[in-house]
Amino acid sequence: MKAVTVSAPHVIAFADQPEPKDLSSGEVLIRVRAGGICGSDLHIFHGTNPFATYPRVIGHEFAGEVVAIGADVTHLAVGDKVAVDPVVSCGSCYACSIGRPNVCRHLQVLGVHRDGGFQELIAVDGAKAHKLPADIPWEHAALVEPFTIAAQSASQGRLSGSDTVLICGAGPIGLVLLQVAKMHGARTVVMDILDSRLQRAAALGADHTINSRSQDLVAEMLRLTDGNGASLIFEATGNIKVMEQCIREIAAIAGRVVVLGMGSDVMNIAPVDFMRRELEVIGTRLSLNKFPQVVEWIRDGKVNPAGIISHVFPASEIQAAIDLSGNPGQDVCKIVVTF
Ligand code: MN
Repeated sequence: MKAVTVSAPHVIAFADQPEPKDLSSGEVLIRVRAGGICGSDLHIFHGTNPFATYPRVIGHEFAGEVVAIGADVTHLAVGDKVAVDPVVSCGSCYACSIGRPNVCRHLQVLGVHRDGGFQELIAVDGAKAHKLPADIPWEHAALVEPFTIAAQSASQGRLSGSDTVLICGAGPIGLVLLQVAKMHGARTVVMDILDSRLQRAAALGADHTINSRSQDLVAEMLRLTDGNGASLIFEATGNIKVMEQCIREIAAIAGRVVVLGMGSDVMNIAPVDFMRRELEVIGTRLSLNKFPQVVEWIRDGKVNPAGIISHVFPASEIQAAIDLSGNPGQDVCKIVVTF
């Protein structure tokens, strides 16, 4: 069989790989049919993901067909269409003991810390394989995982229909957050520096868009909200200046700021910035039991995976897909790879 392997930074190929060995009792064997390329895959390709070792089969957003099941797997059958939760946790650390395995001390993610889903066959823990309706297209099935990121962020931020939501960053994650915020009935504002991305946000129903390169983000947000600011902010740019503006000036009284961006620069924030407005700044990572909920959203048409897909490539053209991913100027959003 073949797999998309990053053998060393900047070296990627769709090349031969041994097939998975015998299944253990709790595992299922999946014939992968489609996967989404994520920013973290690009970081592995560029050698800038601190968690990755090489060689690595990338891909943590993927779906496929069950082709064999271990002896103890009862919730799936051969032929089922499934999406896979890529999070592997230890089950015994403090985070796992309080029911938060998505921040497990010994967390591993398929496609990052261990080989992932961009291969023709993969054996995974059956409990992580979530059955999908048979009529969901493979390209959409591949994108259950990014929607679980939005579901987790919404849960962490206690998103509700009464919120005025600012989403910073209109890449794939910003746009799945937009869909989830709209589904809840919230008023939505999306910010980015690329008009092509903001046009996609507008097409997906954003109430307002702000290009922070040509407009003053703070002034525009305050104007749109009669000076109140945003009750809930999803910060998905990782840009430290944007983060500072959100915390100091844009968040409303009693507001929440959910942090998705992976920046490691240091902020200039005073204690009073949090204290004065009872501001909450909340981290979010991966997802916790969100796959079943997202499968329902997609099944019921409450979210639209097609709205974020810009390109589809066969896995044999992975080099072209990766090259295009690093080029956001060309209206690149989510790139899906098919197997
Ligand atoms: Mn991802």
